[in-house]
Amino acid sequence: MSDQVLQLRNVSRTYGSGVTSVGALRGIDLDISAGEFVAVMGPSGSGKSSLLTLAGGLDKATSGEIFVENTPLSSLNINELARLRRQAIGYVFQDFNLVPSLNAVENVSLPRELDGVPVRKARRQAMDALRTVGIEHLAERFMDQISGGQQQRVAIARAIVGRRRLILADEPTGALDSATGDGIMEVLRNRADAGCAVVLVTHEARHASWADRVLFLKDGRIIDQAAQSFDPASLLGQPAS
Ligand code: ADP
Ligand code: MG
Repeated sequence: MSDQVLQLRNVSRTYGSGVTSVGALRGIDLDISAGEFVAVMGPSGSGKSSLLTLAGGLDKATSGEIFVENTPLSSLNINELARLRRQAIGYVFQDFNLVPSLNAVENVSLPRELDGVPVRKARRQAMDALRTVGIEHLAERFMDQISGGQQQRVAIARAIVGRRRLILADEPTGALDSATGDGIMEVLRNRADAGCAVVLVTHEARHASWADRVLFLKDGRIIDQAAQSFDPASLLGQPAS
């Protein structure tokens, strides 16, 4: 039985019009199911961020249709789309987008509270998410009191809090050293193994190697897809059993 979390059908996004228009995405077809971790690679300007913002309902396709958990995004009004985004989609921004005046647990619980979850329950869920990413002990810290890698974990905790099944991350390891980056990959891999669909934009083959599948974008088109048989043991340099 197929359990599709994200589907794109002939999706295009054109910015501007006339001779200066840019076809950022051109006829993308894509299916990502629950439990799948997909890495997206491609040169700068190939459409990677456009793909993620459309999948996350942050921008609208010029043509084609996007389905999140079988709901066509074009069928939703602004309020319904905002609710779907809060409930089903976790988005990890390149520059984190954390609120400096809130501490870590408040940053994570905010989307739940906005969704009407009672404060204590939202806080409990936020603590669960912080525990999942390994920084429960930093819950009360403000953003200028933790490192870049720790802020990134807060951003990921905010993306996975509650029952979101679609996790979208746009180069989340950009500013991080490689050991910290590997820690983030482990968190994303675990989310996929727990039944989420995870889409990661990355420049680093080392990070893409954690994914089940790698998509290559060029000029707004998927030019290649490589299935990978994910084998954590190979990353640890141990023989597979
Ligand atoms: P990537 O993330 O792979 O670098 P983007 O999705 O950001 O690529 O951009 C794809 C193309 O769309 C590029 O040519 C970029 O200049 C253009 N583009 C992206 N966002 C906008 C925008 N808001 N207005 C105009 N052009 C844009
Ligand atoms: Mg980009």
